[in-house]
Amino acid sequence: MSTTIPARFFQMLQEVWGFSELRQAQVQAIQAALEDRDALVVMPTGGGKSLCYQAPAVFRGGCTIVISPLIALMKDQVDGLRQVGVPAARWESNMSNQEKRALANELRQQKIRVFFASPERALQKDFAELFEGNHVRMIAIDEAHCVSQWGHDFRPEYRQLLELRKHFPKASVMALTATATERVRRDILDQLQLRSPQVSISSFDRPNLTYRVIPQANVLAQCKEIIDRHRSASGQAAGGIIYCLRRADVDQLAEALQACGYSVVGYHAGMSPEQRMQAQDAFINEKVQVVVATVAFGMGIDRSNVRFVVHASIPKSMEHYQQETGRAGRDGLNAECIMLFAMRDVASMRNLLISSANENSAPKAWTDSLLQQLDEIVSFCKTPVCRHRKIVEYFGQRYPTDNCGACDVCLGEIDVVKDSKVIAQKILSCVHRMGERFGTLAIIDVLLGSNSRDIQRRGHESLSTFGILKGHTRNELRDWIDQMIHAKLLKITKESNYSLLQLGPEAKSVLFGTHNPVLLRTVISQTPEAAKPLARFAYDQALLERLMEWRQETADREKVAPYLLMSDGVLAELAARRPSKIDRLTAVNGLGAKQIGLHGDQLVGLIESYCSLKSVPMDQPLRFPTSYVRESYGARLKQRQSLEQIASALNVAVSTVTKYLVEYILEGAIEDVSTWVSDLEVQQVHQAAERLGSGQLTPIFEACNSQIPYHKIRIAMAMRPASCGSQG
Ligand code: ADP
Ligand code: ZN
Repeated sequence: MSTTIPARFFQMLQEVWGFSELRQAQVQAIQAALEDRDALVVMPTGGGKSLCYQAPAVFRGGCTIVISPLIALMKDQVDGLRQVGVPAARWESNMSNQEKRALANELRQQKIRVFFASPERALQKDFAELFEGNHVRMIAIDEAHCVSQWGHDFRPEYRQLLELRKHFPKASVMALTATATERVRRDILDQLQLRSPQVSISSFDRPNLTYRVIPQANVLAQCKEIIDRHRSASGQAAGGIIYCLRRADVDQLAEALQACGYSVVGYHAGMSPEQRMQAQDAFINEKVQVVVATVAFGMGIDRSNVRFVVHASIPKSMEHYQQETGRAGRDGLNAECIMLFAMRDVASMRNLLISSANENSAPKAWTDSLLQQLDEIVSFCKTPVCRHRKIVEYFGQRYPTDNCGACDVCLGEIDVVKDSKVIAQKILSCVHRMGERFGTLAIIDVLLGSNSRDIQRRGHESLSTFGILKGHTRNELRDWIDQMIHAKLLKITKESNYSLLQLGPEAKSVLFGTHNPVLLRTVISQTPEAAKPLARFAYDQALLERLMEWRQETADREKVAPYLLMSDGVLAELAARRPSKIDRLTAVNGLGAKQIGLHGDQLVGLIESYCSLKSVPMDQPLRFPTSYVRESYGARLKQRQSLEQIASALNVAVSTVTKYLVEYILEGAIEDVSTWVSDLEVQQVHQAAERLGSGQLTPIFEACNSQIPYHKIRIAMAMRPASCGSQG
């Protein structure tokens, strides 16, 4: 993909943010912005939406107005921009008149580069007067799905935002959202009347997230295990969110964890605003690492170093799941998403959806669509297909690899039970023998041959199915019964106060042997003992912890959230490279000039004293174990995927993919490059290089009439015999 983004832009990007490249979808959006064209940006949480309007704003000057419905997010964004030295501000309704006047002055004097306001404020009559009209270069509309009634949080006032166009005729409009459905996308384009917009959509895959769905057993014990698994070597807990369905579940689980000595806070809409604010602040400032919450928690929480998200209950839909799990690993480092699945939670959720639909007298079609969405997420949990693939395909995109290496299915943690058919038949015949008059627990008792008083009282030990599944565990049976309910082999029927387990519509086909059901088993023993390391490159763990302590102290002193002061990714890179001089800090991705100016001395000093004390070498390159990054490129290249496809799957620029391809070619691991460059192009490049007697890219590019993009020239040059000299 060729870009017209000038080199000066990348210098600015490096200087301010410390980023060495743009992600593919960012390139398209930023290119449009620099050309004053409208754009729609669709990226999942953590995809890097904010840079799409922030970077052009800094590059071009003038003022960019950002409309955002989430007050807490605006504060985060403003703090984040100020951290890297960009003048940013937001309008708060509770500012004093004096503060408002001061801000209005700054705006009029064109001192603010990025200005955040709520839609309500932006629609007030006097809004445009705050600005020197021509001075406003762009209006960015964040959470743009709010404009659509098909979205999950429709806000009618969003539709009036197109009025802003009249006041700022010179400004282009950039709409941003994480909602991927086609219908919402089209609605945004229509409602905001974007003019021949550049639509840039990034992959919805989040390769740094590892997904697991495990059967729910003892939720408290499972949560403890997960929190412990994510502790650092010195025992420090990592940031995590545990989602529960009801407020009561939140209170209960939070208290139980606290009673076990875990530092957690609860969060739900039933708490007072002060309590909620306190919980949120504690989590953002890393005074507490784990929040137990209802889904009310998360809107407006941007903490980027959340290392795990647990669903202790089923989410409402795939979209909710994607959004809730998306809060993990926004910094791009490894994170884990674990669903503790139980069929009874599905039943509770179903009842909840139905009763709330009834309360609001929602039309039947509406309720049906909610239930269908619930079915889709259940099916996601109960089908042994790569979780990454399932999610990406749900959002209408293709997933290019067979093994993601980052989900329970691909990691081989789920097995098909060998004697599935016999086990299913045994469970069905037991239900049948018991006259379909008992609940799940009683049936499990009989299958296991328990010696309980109820069994004796009912005379169940004389049943022919008594004890026929002895040797399995209770949790296993519960999980299989859940799977059979989902496969419609069994069903739950409510009768007065009892839930009876009965034969489902598909039961006959199994009992008669015409259908072979497949049961799955989670191989719990293979769940890793420790979470994945944070980063894909090797880093010094103890130094990282030391840097995290430094960050916490500094953040407390400067009254800014630790993750905004410096991301986990930057700290991990520092702990890997261990720079010995200030000017080597620029190599760290995500460390901008202002940060280096403010903290560089301290960082280098801290690293130096650590390294000399421990005799650890300094000034190291980043080392990627082959098992990770390189191989994920290699596998895709060997499948002969296009460079664009790989770039989008791995969320990197085409130039990065090219770099790996060139490496493979030079090693002789890839010989045929016809997928990426035609023979003719290779010939042209070689001839030009010969004529020029040089391997420098720009002269070759010009010699080929600027027709062959740079990345193709690189590939073609790698195909030259070694004696022809190296490339420039
Ligand atoms: P979103 O708003 O889409 O949820 P953010 O704008 O918060 O995503 O970005 C997510 C993370 O990715 C942030 O930590 C940000 O610093 C980082 N990021 C964004 N763009 C780049 C880039 N080009 N290179 C490196 N990191 C980036
Ligand atoms: Zn997978």
